[in-house]
Amino acid sequence: MSPERSKDVTPPPLPAPLAVEVADSHTHLDMQAGTVEEGLAKAASVGVTTVVQVGCDLKGSRWAAALAETHARVHATVALHPNEAPRIVHGDPDGWSRQGAREPLGDAGLDEALAEIDRLAALPQVKGVGETGLDYFRTGPEGKAAQERSFRAHIEIAKRHGKALVIHDREAHEDVLRVLKEEGAPERTVFHCYSGDAEMAQVCARNGYFMSFAGNMTFKNAQPLRDALAVAPHELLLVETDAPFLTPAPYRGRPNAPYLIPVTLRAMATVKGVTEEALATSVSANTARVFGY
Ligand SMILES: [Zn+2]
Ligand SMILES: [Zn+2]
Repeated sequence: MSPERSKDVTPPPLPAPLAVEVADSHTHLDMQAGTVEEGLAKAASVGVTTVVQVGCDLKGSRWAAALAETHARVHATVALHPNEAPRIVHGDPDGWSRQGAREPLGDAGLDEALAEIDRLAALPQVKGVGETGLDYFRTGPEGKAAQERSFRAHIEIAKRHGKALVIHDREAHEDVLRVLKEEGAPERTVFHCYSGDAEMAQVCARNGYFMSFAGNMTFKNAQPLRDALAVAPHELLLVETDAPFLTPAPYRGRPNAPYLIPVTLRAMATVKGVTEEALATSVSANTARVFGY
């Protein structure tokens, strides 16, 4: 049997409910098993009553905006993911894009897609622009220029509409910080799935950038992330699942969903040396402040 076949795909059990309600600041309900209503109800049953649904491409961004329009406790963000932008410009022969394999559309194609992100960003239920940023893990050097052009455009859109900026930064810390500085960061900027070290957390703190921690902060090899969390100021902390990805320990590898927020929040409280209630209270307030709901 291959390792893939023996993978445990059963959903982890429900954690004990949180005493103070907390939002999942970054999730992808459109990539999770089961219906959206089931996922939201399960999350609410453990105190995760609000979720931020994040768009990664045009289709997903339209979907997020439509969902948030009909659900008071769902807020949307819209964007072309840093790995999506180069697929639009250079084509997508491997069919990674959820929009399907397609021909290269060039910079004009990217501009057209950005114009729709701009239109969606104006909607009242859309509270953020992202996830955008830079990803040097999945995108090679040939996609760098498209990625950076797209990132700069998203920063401009977020600022013009007064929305939060949600950043995806994978193995690109220095360039993400540089582009933010060059463009001028929006008033509310979040590093989703924060992946820097303690030194970078101090840079983020000085600039007032929010840091959203995901389930990977619980992983055995993630001491640098816990060190970063330890020095990050309470008023800049958020929690997220990035579900279906990054399921927290001890459920690593099994499907993730917003109802698992308590597992990560409790691990964060341990690192910060505060009670779960104290951390939940500050994280809740921070998330509402970032997304303006
Ligand atoms: Zn991401
Ligand atoms: Zn994400």
